[in-house]
Amino acid sequence: MATAPVGLPLVNASTGPATASTVSTAQQAASIQASLCQNGVSNAACQNAVQSLPAGATQLAYAAALPGATGTATQQVTGTAAAPPPTTVVTLTGESLPDAPRNLLIQILQEAGISSARVSSGPRNAHEQAVVMYENLQSQSLADQKELYMQPGKQVIAVYEANAGKSKAEVIAAMEAKINELGPSTVSKHCDNSYYAFDVGPPSIQGHEKAFVDAVKAHMPPITKFLVPPADPGYHIQIPRSSLDAN
Ligand SMILES: [Zn+2]
Repeated sequence: MATAPVGLPLVNASTGPATASTVSTAQQAASIQASLCQNGVSNAACQNAVQSLPAGATQLAYAAALPGATGTATQQVTGTAAAPPPTTVVTLTGESLPDAPRNLLIQILQEAGISSARVSSGPRNAHEQAVVMYENLQSQSLADQKELYMQPGKQVIAVYEANAGKSKAEVIAAMEAKINELGPSTVSKHCDNSYYAFDVGPPSIQGHEKAFVDAVKAHMPPITKFLVPPADPGYHIQIPRSSLDAN
């Protein structure tokens, strides 16, 4: 151990791919940089390698990127070379979100290894809430929709039922009036300025449902409510603004 360069145990081959995902901080990258330099790589080569790395790259990527890495360092890095890329590039489609919830969603998708997702709903005004509820009541089970909403939302659903037979525009107008009467924020967190609430469209993460759900749950808090289909037509995520904006 007396001759082992500082930081090298962090990429010890014997620990396998798991090592790569646990050594991602800038501090640790600096540590491996120091040790690789001690192994015969020039400072200039180290600096160049650092600057060429994408944000979020791990030590593993860092070490592998060093063309002049030799000896002990090269050997130890080889064992983890087959590990999957640590950072998934994520593409979000659909509604745009403010930076704070957007960055959180991207982080969740990266952790789940999902490269794209669609935000099917974001902030709503009273009219938009009425339209969403109307369309969900048309396409989903009435029982599920009643189950989904608290008392104010149930009152809006009652308006929908009471106006059955009228035109779509008339029903939505009646529902919107009820939403405004009750206060939009009491009906849905999508209408509540003290929350970030958005939905991820289920088809957009098809095949990755479990990884997505697990990744979301790892962020509760700051996520305080997470609804999944079929209770909610989408993956509903809500976060008190104060808990994200404070950071
Ligand atoms: Zn929602």
